[in-house]
Amino acid sequence: MKPFDYARAASVEEALAAGAAGGRYIAGGTNLIDLMKLQVETPDRLVDIGRLPLGEVAETTDGGLRIGALVPNSDLAAHPLVRSRYPMLSRALLAGASGQLRNKASTGGNLLQRTRCYYFYETAAACNKREPGSGCAAIGGFNRIHAVLGASDSCIATHPSDMAVALRALDAMVVTALPDGAGRRIMLGDLYRLPGDTPEIETLLQPGELIVAIELPAPPPGRQLYRKVRDRASYAFALVSVAAAVAVEHGVISSARLGFGGLAPMPWRSAEVEAALVGQPAGSEAFEDAADVLLADARGHGHTTSRSSWRGAR
Ligand code: SF4
Repeated sequence: MKPFDYARAASVEEALAAGAAGGRYIAGGTNLIDLMKLQVETPDRLVDIGRLPLGEVAETTDGGLRIGALVPNSDLAAHPLVRSRYPMLSRALLAGASGQLRNKASTGGNLLQRTRCYYFYETAAACNKREPGSGCAAIGGFNRIHAVLGASDSCIATHPSDMAVALRALDAMVVTALPDGAGRRIMLGDLYRLPGDTPEIETLLQPGELIVAIELPAPPPGRQLYRKVRDRASYAFALVSVAAAVAVEHGVISSARLGFGGLAPMPWRSAEVEAALVGQPAGSEAFEDAADVLLADARGHGHTTSRSSWRGAR
């Protein structure tokens, strides 16, 4: 591991000042430390934000929740208000990583974890995300876990988070603080950038910008669930996942909100798919038709070219 400086921030203001000076924020470190060991990431300075007062879950006046950026994934999954009002979020969190990792991983860090593309972690491989302009070993390589929607000829990596898929379906808002004292409120769907020609730029966060909280509006109507298909039942990233909140009245779908994981460089959502479901009798025919709408523009790269390539996953 390359040597680096380390400082622990005692306040948000102190963290922001260090971030503006080029420091890299670290909370649980469950992804960044791995990347530093492999020298995929080589920050000169780490700013430990782990003791900042950003660990609360609080109800908002509009019936929603404000989740501090440092709430551990395991605490969030077990929180009574999350379990009762946003069960898809609780299930998505529990579908991610292992118990030990969930105890350390933070809400804000979960959103910013980097792709699990094997070639991104292999420094001998060509990777435009790690080394812009070097090529993409996944295109033409082993790409079973790669994107079929929203990718580009530069990068076909997927976003690895389960939690973010549920948050996308729940219309979550990301609250940030900027070094100049201002802050922003960004819809989760707007936080991420598609790869285009610059896959190394993954979000619209500015240098030194710190995620301080996630806000959820009141829960959507209907039943919620999170379903994840993966190669190993115990601990694996999604080949495909779906977070769904679907309301059915008299057998007809009256409302549908769907987030998808494992398909795209960001947690994916499609207004066309949701519109295709509303007004249809709830049943396999409507769901098959919705899947066709979702995948109408899908583009595979060998191991993701046909739906049969996912057979055998659990
Ligand atoms: Fe790198 Fe993206 Fe290609 Fe993976 S898919 S090798 S992350 S450029």
